[in-house]
Amino acid sequence: MGIKKIALTHKRKDCIGCGVCAQIAPDFWKMNDKDGQADLCGSEQKGEYSIRKIDEIEKEKGKECSDACPMGIIRVEE
Ligand code: SF4
Repeated sequence: MGIKKIALTHKRKDCIGCGVCAQIAPDFWKMNDKDGQADLCGSEQKGEYSIRKIDEIEKEKGKECSDACPMGIIRVEE
């Protein structure tokens, strides 16, 4: 535990701001007051992706978000 090797990724530019991800996992997502899109908390920017390292315990939450996002722009990568 403690080793964060799984990546939660977000292609923010395609976010439509529906807010579903933030409802499922408010620890991961905050809706941005300025442009209405979701921000992935604690993430780093790589190209057009925001990336946050998560651990095994957080993985299921990440997958829930991935499954629920209507734009298919949230991914869990191992
Ligand atoms: S569920 Fe997807 S489209 Fe909706 S706010 Fe979150 S990232 Fe954006």
